[in-house]
Amino acid sequence: MSSRRWLLADQLGPHFLDDPAQPVLLVEARELFRRRPMHRQKAHLILSALRHRAAELGERAILVRAGTFREALAQVDGPVEVCHPGSRAGLAFARSVPGLTILPPRGFLTSRDGFAEWADAPRRGPLRIGDFYDWARRRHGVLEGPPGRVPRRPHPCERGDGLVAPAPPPIVEDVIDAEVRDELDRWEQEGVRFLGRDAPRRYPATHAEADARLRHFVRHRLPDFGRYQEVMSGGDPLLAHSVLSSSFNLGLLDPAEAIGAAEEAWRAGNASLSAVEPFIRGLLGWREFLWQLYWYFGPGFQGANWLAATEPLPDWFATLDADAVQARCLADVLAGVRDRAWAHHAQRLLVLGNYALQRGWRPAELAAWFRDCFVDGTDWVMNAAVIGMSQYADLGRVDTRPYAVDGRYVDELSDYCTGCRYQPDTALGELACPYTAGFGAFLHRNRDRLDTDPRLAAELAERDDPQMRQAVLAQEDKRGSSPP
Ligand SMILES: Cc1cc2nc3c(=O)[nH]c(=O)nc-3n(C[C@H](O)[C@H](O)[C@H](O)COP(=O)(O)OP(=O)(O)OC[C@H]3O[C@@H](n4cnc5c(N)ncnc54)[C@H](O)[C@@H]3O)c2cc1C
Ligand code: SF4
Repeated sequence: MSSRRWLLADQLGPHFLDDPAQPVLLVEARELFRRRPMHRQKAHLILSALRHRAAELGERAILVRAGTFREALAQVDGPVEVCHPGSRAGLAFARSVPGLTILPPRGFLTSRDGFAEWADAPRRGPLRIGDFYDWARRRHGVLEGPPGRVPRRPHPCERGDGLVAPAPPPIVEDVIDAEVRDELDRWEQEGVRFLGRDAPRRYPATHAEADARLRHFVRHRLPDFGRYQEVMSGGDPLLAHSVLSSSFNLGLLDPAEAIGAAEEAWRAGNASLSAVEPFIRGLLGWREFLWQLYWYFGPGFQGANWLAATEPLPDWFATLDADAVQARCLADVLAGVRDRAWAHHAQRLLVLGNYALQRGWRPAELAAWFRDCFVDGTDWVMNAAVIGMSQYADLGRVDTRPYAVDGRYVDELSDYCTGCRYQPDTALGELACPYTAGFGAFLHRNRDRLDTDPRLAAELAERDDPQMRQAVLAQEDKRGSSPP
């Protein structure tokens, strides 16, 4: 009797199945949504994607609805197999189920053994993304050979020009989405709590929808990806980003396909290397690197807190109360999370993560917030992206410097400061930018830990006036955890 393939909620694309006739199991376990509040749009997307997959597979698949995964598995006859789950808790559970066969992980180009071969090489030193990415590119033969000829596009900050690129085509909801919405409404009436606002589904729930979004992105926004990837704009939440992270993380889209499509655009002369390379670096470099580090470093990483950050997340932030915030950049990004369950990379790092880092919020609590509020949030990203890169709680195991920056830096990369009630170059007084003042206070509070970093040591030296230091620290203590 052939094994039934259990497809987890992050394994919903065709690359998680081999045999077109193999029977399939899908499970909707209510415990996933009741353990702690998650964004309503994320809950909708997960349920919608599971149910769409069941509908696509027809009689081949059974969809079991149960309180817990264990209860669901108890209802299934015959042998079951599953691809390696994406979290340690998931793997521990799978290992505890008698007779469940665990297959190798899928959806990543580099295998665990391949990564260990690279990471454990003699004289490797600290594990750095640049080295890993160069190695991965050679190993997988990506972006080799001659490019097509593409005219150079200037960086937006060079010219300040606006981006003219169509947003992704809208998703058309169907009867499955209507059922999911009714069910989530019912759960809310029964007392289940969600975060953020509900909205018509914005993100793909099937491979076909994700693939259409990928093709649209490659054609219309990839050519501008490189020059807009670090920019932030209050008027354009997406810019040239692909907004495909939830599709990769639900397993709807194989990253290898996306890398191939981007590379093809470069070869055909439709996009320059400076546009395509950063997109491929995100997928073949960062995404794979974070996944591998999650398993390579093991559970110790989660509790890392080198900067001894002990402040809890304030309520206004935890509950996405963007209306309470006056700082234009933070209000815009927090509203984006509330309304879209998504923000692009620079917004996550320089606006959300930077604010938390400056104020000494607990890294593990912040990581849980990112995981629950973002439509692409997963445990394996959190360790390295939040605990490591954004909060520097790991003492540079992931990146070489803390991502603490002041308002002037936000101003350089965005149009937020025009029209904000604060001034990015002011650290004291009524008009003090919370990022500029917060940066100064962060440096002073952590001076003993940060003076080995050349950039931050120079910033500290610039602010070495004792009176100014006292004033900034007193002002920031007074601001406390209230919304800026
Ligand atoms: C504090 C913080 C939290 C984050 N949390 C998550 C998360 O929970 N889930 C998640 O998938 N990504 C996370 N990221 C990484 C990155 O911000 C998102 O992958 C990206 O913004 C998703 O939008 P997009 O699909 O438009 O990406 P694009 O900008 O279009 O990039 C294309 C793809 O490359 C991958 N990618 C690019 N940069 C990164 C990166 N630094 N790390 C991992 N993958 C990357 C993603 O799969 C992304 O979809 C986080 C980053 C930070 C700084
Ligand atoms: S002035 Fe400061 S708070 Fe206002 S938008 Fe600029 S960086 Fe953000």
